[in-house]
Amino acid sequence: MPQEMKRVPFGREEIEVLRQSISVAEELISDFYKISTSEWKRYRYDIQSLKDLLEEEIIDTAFAQVHRYSQSPHQRLRGSERGEFFKICIQDHMVRKAVQRDAHIQLFPLMTYIVTHELIHVVRFARFLHQFYSTPAEEAAEERRVHALTYQLLENLKIKGLPEVLQAFTDCRTMETFHGTQETASQG
Ligand SMILES: [Zn+2]
Repeated sequence: MPQEMKRVPFGREEIEVLRQSISVAEELISDFYKISTSEWKRYRYDIQSLKDLLEEEIIDTAFAQVHRYSQSPHQRLRGSERGEFFKICIQDHMVRKAVQRDAHIQLFPLMTYIVTHELIHVVRFARFLHQFYSTPAEEAAEERRVHALTYQLLENLKIKGLPEVLQAFTDCRTMETFHGTQETASQG
């Protein structure tokens, strides 16, 4: 299979970089959207890297895939609470490819950009500022909006290599793909 891309999951050091970028992104989003620690619990999401993804959550066309599930896999209380849940699936192999392709792009600032961007999507879905199921035109407009918000949140941050990432990825159209499981769909 010559075209098959090698999907090598992040190693220990890359996972640590991902962890740091998640904590930076969550703090920025908390400040920006004025979300308190207790309020964060209402935002049901999880950020997973390649080693913890299901086959259908892996793609070779974007940095991430956002899966919307009607129920959190960690929740066993069926039907007790509305359990809309977002799983942000980081595509390690695609992120690494971007870092290897361009000497100006470093992992930490790139991961910070990606995670911040995805969390803005999640907050906007959860606050009904944007519908998960929308038209391609609406999706394209939302994507531009989320890139602009990501830029706004990150532009004054002092992170080495961040200006290069902001320059390179603010109009990147293949940031992520979205995949929803309809409410009525029955899982086996
Ligand atoms: Zn996006």
